[in-house]
Amino acid sequence: MAAEQKKSLAYATFEVKGEAKPWEFELHELGAEDVELKLTHSGVCHSDIHSIDGDWGIPNFPLVAGHELLGEVTAVGANVTKFKIGDRIGVGPQANSCGACRQCQRNSETYCTAGMVQTYNSKLPDGYITKGGYAQYHRTNAKFAFKIPENLDPAGAAPLLCAGVTVFTPLKECGVDYKSKVAVVGLGGLGHVALKIARAMGAEVTAISTSASKEAECKSFGAHEFIVSTDDAQMAAAAGQFDVILNTSSASLDWAKYLSLLQARGTWVQLGAPPCSIGLAPFQLIFKGISFRGSLIGSPRDFEDMFELCGRHNIVCAVETVPVSKINEALQKVRDNKARYRMVLTFEEM
Ligand code: NAP
Ligand code: ZN
Repeated sequence: MAAEQKKSLAYATFEVKGEAKPWEFELHELGAEDVELKLTHSGVCHSDIHSIDGDWGIPNFPLVAGHELLGEVTAVGANVTKFKIGDRIGVGPQANSCGACRQCQRNSETYCTAGMVQTYNSKLPDGYITKGGYAQYHRTNAKFAFKIPENLDPAGAAPLLCAGVTVFTPLKECGVDYKSKVAVVGLGGLGHVALKIARAMGAEVTAISTSASKEAECKSFGAHEFIVSTDDAQMAAAAGQFDVILNTSSASLDWAKYLSLLQARGTWVQLGAPPCSIGLAPFQLIFKGISFRGSLIGSPRDFEDMFELCGRHNIVCAVETVPVSKINEALQKVRDNKARYRMVLTFEEM
């Protein structure tokens, strides 16, 4: 049973663009539907950078970011049968949803009409601000926690809890298979694992990057082709090629130039969330029947499907692990596009 009033060590930021500093906070009370885990690994998503740097508005401080959590179950609520103490589980960016609305009822909990409760920076009805994975312990609703396939290396599996499911879900929804030509724009945490997952689905896969130095690694991840996006000749040669383009870039793009790469009836999936607007002329969509859509993480069912595929193909992320005490260096590497390809914090010393 749960220990109440339990505290956790963490790294928090206290102002926009602030350094992460050691901090201690009280965990939320363990509810009957909740699970508690002690973290071993925590991925650094670019969404954490957007949050810490105020790209999406001023967050609630102190901010404990991190939404790729992996660790061992240390307590379960009275009604939880899904997990037992000692299980290796993970938690992604969603902590809860209303469970009753039309979206929740059709396995679409990320789009909960009441708004999804996020793993960090969300205010619960009792006023508690949720705190994420840059911490020793975490408590969340067990519906939004998942068993990690035993064959997957834990450091490489942690980023599947956001990066993996976020790219898997739209590839699944677009029906990607051996007949599909898929391009992935932006080869960071999301993009590099999108290459692996699209390849495992049987697609012909192209990586489109601003970084020529990533070519050999992207091909080792599963890309058949590699395009340097600043090379106009390479971009022009790829015009009208792709059925699906996943855009995982954390920056704004020359949208018209990239859209010209889709073939008729192709689909653009916007995953990157830079603070910018997307200016498009209607005819850029109309004349080729293009679908332009967004996608947000994945539902619990999508997580199960993603782990089934990644477990079967032994897909994990390419990671660089650092002890959590080096968190500020890890955050800066992500800001500077120097992570290869996901920074993962480890908690041995906490
Ligand atoms: P990341 O690891 O930092 O990778 C982003 C990639 O974008 C970089 O590796 C780089 O790839 C490209 N890039 C960076 N600066 C660029 C620039 N100035 N011009 C063009 N490309 C640039 O980030 P991530 O963790 O994969 O996250 C990517 C984006 O997805 C973020 O905006 C994040 O907030 C968002 N996200 C969305 C969801 C969702 O549910 N929709 C979930 C998670 C994350 P190249 O070097 O290959 O160009
Ligand atoms: Zn994320």
